[in-house]
Amino acid sequence: MAVPTPLPDLQPYWMPFTANRYFKQHPLLLASAAGMYYTTRDGQRILDGIAGLWCVNAGHCHPRIVAAVREQVGRLDYATAFNLGHAGAFELASELVKLAPGNLGHAFFVNSGSEAVDTALKIALAYHRARGEGQRFRFIGRERGYHGVGFGGISVGGMVANRKVFASAMLPGVDHLPHTHDLARNAFSRGQPAHGAEFADALERLIALHDPSTIAGVIIEPVSGSAGVLLPPKGYLERIRAICDRHNLLLIFDEVITGFGRTGAAFASQTFGVHPDLMTVAKGITSGVVPMGAVLVDRRIYEACVSSGAGPSAQPEQAIEFFHGYTYSGHPLACAAGLAALAVYREEGLFERAAALAPAFADALHSLKGAPHVIDIRSIGLMGAVELEPRKDQPTLRALDVFRHCFADGVLVRTTGDTIALTPPLIIEEAQIGQIVDALGKALRAVA
Ligand code: PLP
Repeated sequence: MAVPTPLPDLQPYWMPFTANRYFKQHPLLLASAAGMYYTTRDGQRILDGIAGLWCVNAGHCHPRIVAAVREQVGRLDYATAFNLGHAGAFELASELVKLAPGNLGHAFFVNSGSEAVDTALKIALAYHRARGEGQRFRFIGRERGYHGVGFGGISVGGMVANRKVFASAMLPGVDHLPHTHDLARNAFSRGQPAHGAEFADALERLIALHDPSTIAGVIIEPVSGSAGVLLPPKGYLERIRAICDRHNLLLIFDEVITGFGRTGAAFASQTFGVHPDLMTVAKGITSGVVPMGAVLVDRRIYEACVSSGAGPSAQPEQAIEFFHGYTYSGHPLACAAGLAALAVYREEGLFERAAALAPAFADALHSLKGAPHVIDIRSIGLMGAVELEPRKDQPTLRALDVFRHCFADGVLVRTTGDTIALTPPLIIEEAQIGQIVDALGKALRAVA
């Protein structure tokens, strides 16, 4: 076993979304990774059941992606995207729109999922204004939705803990659809649940309440990820799409988690056959290797914002059309990683692999039905969840105990509330799916 290097001073780093006091008493530090495995700093091999954080879809330290980033950093380390460019950004945009569904013909680059969401909301506002409908300022999100942590994202998001402290600074005019999680009718469904398309009808009521001419768009995750892998009921997304069309609302799919093969196609939009007007992506765009996100934009939105000079009062050709962007938009390293990741997905057939493994993954997860504390099991593609009965007056703690047991047993899972989420790299082998589910079963039997 490797001799651990001395532990660094843990105090200066304020860790995100972490119980800092507990962690610093019980630190878990990773040292290296390859393929399906992490190695901790004390040499323990950990099978990665969650692709880092739903992002390392091609597996860790994929040699082709590593080589592309190494080569890029020695050739062109940085290039501003403001009135200058480098070929990689244009090439990556072209590759992305080839993969994208429907009429999504343009890509706006950002550095994270949160930035993608805030950017998509801004594009929606800019589009309506360019068409002379600047009064459309409202957005509809959904309960239990997660759209990152920018002020836009938490406003349309529906995770209470992420919102309550910041309530005074939310976007104005946001309302929320009900979530679609319905254990009474849908527990242990295989694939999309049968009941709940009618949850979409709440959108008509919100539209009537607020007046459709004030609403810019609706943002949802096609499959809610961070809320615990909540699949859309059959017919639900179709109804949402139809209602948006009826009232000229833009439909934004947040595919930060579901993009890049997770559901067995490039995007969940294709898995479900429902196409959005804007799509936010991140994570798997570079297989997690370099931070990056993007908003994929319908051609008519780009045309309205850019070609017409962003508004009824057309601007000269030299004028900036959309006052938004980041220092690191289209960063050369991210673009190199993105192009290499897309090549790996294509050449190794990883989206098809996710689709092919989906039945075995679902079978393995559903074998946990009847294990202690399990109240629901859900999956689509290589994205799954096992929901546990919370301990009385101690929500989340049972799932955290399961996490620790699995980690000690050499398997990384993720907890969200009292749900265990599993989203392995798309290179996973069937035997490794078995190992994850065995570890989970053992942990469930061990915890109180
Ligand atoms: N949107 C969705 C659906 C996500 O799942 C996430 C992160 O998990 C985000 C947005 C935010 O992404 P980031 O953490 O890169 O800002």
